[in-house]
Amino acid sequence: MPESSSIVRTALVTGGSRGIGRAICLELAKAGCNVAVNYAGSAAAAEETAAQCRALGVRAEAFQADVSSAAACAALVEQVLAAFGRIDVLVNNAGVTRDNLLLRMSEEDYDRVLDTNLKGAVFCCKAVARPMMRQRYGRIVNLSSVVGLRGNAGQVNYSASKAGLIGLTKSLAKELASRGVTANAVAPGFIETDMTNALPEAARSAMAAGIPAGRPGLPEEVARAVAFFAREDAGYITGQVLCVDGGMAV
Ligand code: NAP
Repeated sequence: MPESSSIVRTALVTGGSRGIGRAICLELAKAGCNVAVNYAGSAAAAEETAAQCRALGVRAEAFQADVSSAAACAALVEQVLAAFGRIDVLVNNAGVTRDNLLLRMSEEDYDRVLDTNLKGAVFCCKAVARPMMRQRYGRIVNLSSVVGLRGNAGQVNYSASKAGLIGLTKSLAKELASRGVTANAVAPGFIETDMTNALPEAARSAMAAGIPAGRPGLPEEVARAVAFFAREDAGYITGQVLCVDGGMAV
């Protein structure tokens, strides 16, 4: 993936310790980006992601921050700017589920999911917006989901957060396009990670049965779509949602 300028780009990936986030860190490192690997609690896993990135020849460091706090998002961006001098790519990947039917859903389950998945993305975007506008360059990629497009029984909180990310992406695209900053979303389907391994077997089988491709996706397949939006020469693509779902949302 040739990049068009000689600037070494820096990417901040939230939730880069595991799963799709780790695959994104590695894909961006392969493309020559320095990588700031954010995590909430899995310090050792985040250090392992950073080490794997460094083995690809780039700078990489792990940064702890709970993105459900706006103050923590601002502090995270400050720390990454202090360490790397710039942020060119922000990937809002950190996400959690607290699944339940609406009638059994607690306020805490709702708040946890919305605060992490949506508020976290909003406040990371807010923190990077000024430096990106100042440098007249930025690539923001938000991890939505096919359930943000189609809904899913048992996931009103999660699908609301993922639909919200699409609204965020489109609004940001309009606010930032004139400053050379793009905002796009990737909407994965059913991808093999800790998040989906935690589902009951019946739910996993039902999900898999609805995939035209006949199999779950791999984190690397999502990561390649994120890396596409993060490319320098993708600067005329903004406000888009790309499904990586084996045909689930068709
Ligand atoms: P995962 O394996 O459960 O990993 C979640 C990641 O998010 C971890 O790195 C975790 O950090 C981090 N995280 C969670 N809460 C955080 C917080 N408050 N602050 C900072 N980091 C936090 O999840 P995944 O399956 O890779 O999913 C990644 C993204 O893709 C999520 O946004 C998810 O909603 C989305 N997605 C996944 C699928 C799928 O099928 N897997 C489908 C559609 C969309 P720690 O390791 O420190 O806990």
